[in-house]
Amino acid sequence: MTLIVTALVGLSALTTLAGFSMFRALSGDFVMTWGVFALWLGLLTAANGVLALSVRKAWPRLSLRAQALAILWLSISLWYWTVAPLFFFLSMNVNAQQLSWTAFAFLWEVPVVGGGLFISLALAAFYPFERVLRAGKRLSHPEALYRWTLWYPRVLAAFLFLVSVVGYGLGTLQLRLFAGWPLVEQVKNIIGGGMISLFLAVFLYLVFDIFLGKVRERLKQDYAIPRVIWRHMSTRVILVTTVLMIGSVGLLGFIAFDALQFVIQRGGGTLSLSILANSELVNTFSAAVGLVLALTVGFIIFFGQALTKALRFLSAAVAETQQPGGAVPAVRTADELEALSQLLGDTIGDLSRERNRLREAKIENEAIFDSMGEALVVVDQNTCVIRVNQQAERLLGWTQAEFSGKPLKNFTRAIYPNGRSVEVSALDETLALGKSIFKDDYTYAHKNGRRFPVAVTAAALILNQKIVGAVMLFRDITREKAIDQAKTEFVSIASHQLRTPLTAMNWYVELLLREQNLTDSQRSDLKKIRIRGQRMVQLVNALLNVSRLEAGRLKVNPVPTDLVELINSLVDELLPFAHQRGCQVIFHKSDDEFPDLPIDRSLLRQVLHNLFTNAIKYSPSGQGARVWVQLERSPAGAYVISVQDNGIGIPENLRSRIFDKFFRADKAMLAEPDGTGLGLYVAKKIIAASGGKIWFESTEGRGTTFFVEIPKSGMQEQGGVDLAFVSPHA
Ligand code: ADP
Repeated sequence: MTLIVTALVGLSALTTLAGFSMFRALSGDFVMTWGVFALWLGLLTAANGVLALSVRKAWPRLSLRAQALAILWLSISLWYWTVAPLFFFLSMNVNAQQLSWTAFAFLWEVPVVGGGLFISLALAAFYPFERVLRAGKRLSHPEALYRWTLWYPRVLAAFLFLVSVVGYGLGTLQLRLFAGWPLVEQVKNIIGGGMISLFLAVFLYLVFDIFLGKVRERLKQDYAIPRVIWRHMSTRVILVTTVLMIGSVGLLGFIAFDALQFVIQRGGGTLSLSILANSELVNTFSAAVGLVLALTVGFIIFFGQALTKALRFLSAAVAETQQPGGAVPAVRTADELEALSQLLGDTIGDLSRERNRLREAKIENEAIFDSMGEALVVVDQNTCVIRVNQQAERLLGWTQAEFSGKPLKNFTRAIYPNGRSVEVSALDETLALGKSIFKDDYTYAHKNGRRFPVAVTAAALILNQKIVGAVMLFRDITREKAIDQAKTEFVSIASHQLRTPLTAMNWYVELLLREQNLTDSQRSDLKKIRIRGQRMVQLVNALLNVSRLEAGRLKVNPVPTDLVELINSLVDELLPFAHQRGCQVIFHKSDDEFPDLPIDRSLLRQVLHNLFTNAIKYSPSGQGARVWVQLERSPAGAYVISVQDNGIGIPENLRSRIFDKFFRADKAMLAEPDGTGLGLYVAKKIIAASGGKIWFESTEGRGTTFFVEIPKSGMQEQGGVDLAFVSPHA
């Protein structure tokens, strides 16, 4: 700030001194030369230069009005004290007296016409913009003011042009009145001055347009000025270049005319080349052409810069947004560029926000993936690995980089514990069917060759109704398998150990019952012991069957059997039990053909026995209970046995657990306290091992129907362990 004050004081002192010396020259005390003229103007230019530099330094701290004042003063004074005199020197032909008056005219024009008239009026019209930047003031017509920010530079330029021409006119008039300047010189001076003023007008227009950008920006922020293109860039380009062209061509034409007029006068009306070549004005002419060209080129560069500034701004904005949290700066040209930049800014903002969100989500996902206890593998539709988590890397021994883009089977293949390879893995199945698949009966291998049993869940990734890949979760279940194995072995051993003494006890009870001299109550107690003993043997047998089923494969040994006879004999066998419960059992066979079928008699008997007794057990006794057994053939030729009852039914929420080991529904336990929950589990294993299907339909309180389907070709043979027969109603 002090620098500005110093520069201003210096400038005033210089102007006063210069004015004083001009007066002395005018009163004829000393002869004004071009040298003195140039010295004074040079000193004034230097002082203005210092002022410009100090203003630039203090720029952000200056008020809007001070900034506007600085632009106005510096452009006027630098123009009139530097560029215009230079032009005058190049084009004017004056004597010492006239030069004194010219110098005097330049000196007063700046403070009086430029500073007093032009600057004060320009600042008065500038006043509304200052209000915008003053906090707390609401504008009633923000849009009108916005339009004024666009018009102000144009009006200013036009006004400046007018004032300059008037200034030139007054200065010239003064020369004519006091120094006897010829009229023709006077006209030339006004035309030349007007032309050169055009350059100044364009300069001020461009500078103020850029300068008012911050006012426009503020208006848009504070008042929702609609995003409209207020003017077209093309109009602006055409306007500015036209004015520049008029200025340059006009000036050149004028100087050319000046030189030629002089030469023609000297040559007595004829234009001779030798006179032209020797004319000192030709040198001046060349210098003037140079000046005009320099000015024009300077303006074109300035204008080009102003226009491309927005583009550079945009690329800087894009670069800025590459930085995390980078904001998009605004472009304030109030034309298509601004609209474009705003659009780009918004898009870039959205994109960078989205990118940050994705980055965060990715980090979050990675943290979740890697902290999961399960191994995770994501594959594309060709089972090529897209990504794995740390747990998968640890279990399989390969890294994400090694997996990436290669099929999973290059690293590990699903193999059954007995060494047989899995034809269709969970992954293949899910990719083929598009549904979730669970498997827990095969193994995977680590890079070092160690195999381990796994529980795998695979789910398809579906995009636009197309399977694009799959996600597979798996874990090493070595421990679970070992515990299961130990449990099975324990059950097996415990059952064996229990069965021997139990059988012996039952045997002794039988012996005791044969005794003749027992009282009635002793006999009845012994019978109760026999029933309990038999139940215990059944339970132990059932447990033994479960442990056998879990330890290895079930032996299925089909032989040609008459299915109708098998069912009939079973129904007959169960009739006493049914009657005891007040239940009616009806067997119905469809009209289809029932040739002898390869069947493991003992296994199927066990399954049907369980279904029949369940149907009787879970029907309310003595209340019209009825079991309907039906044998028929499906359209495909398979044999379907259905067992329908009108009993308690199975609640909806328990249906998925009916075939589970030891599962019994609450209501079933009330209706029939004795039961193991193993019958259906064993039945399902038997039917599955022999290639058939078992399922049911039920309505709670209304009844249940179980279905068993045996393939057309009968039960499939398979080697393995025998099962003991278990009668659940013993
Ligand atoms: P258990 O009969 O010894 O309980 P099961 O494995 O044969 O064992 O049956 C399991 C469970 O399935 C039963 O406890 C019962 O809840 C249900 N259930 C089986 N059959 C029927 C049926 N016909 N009606 C209603 N519930 C049934």
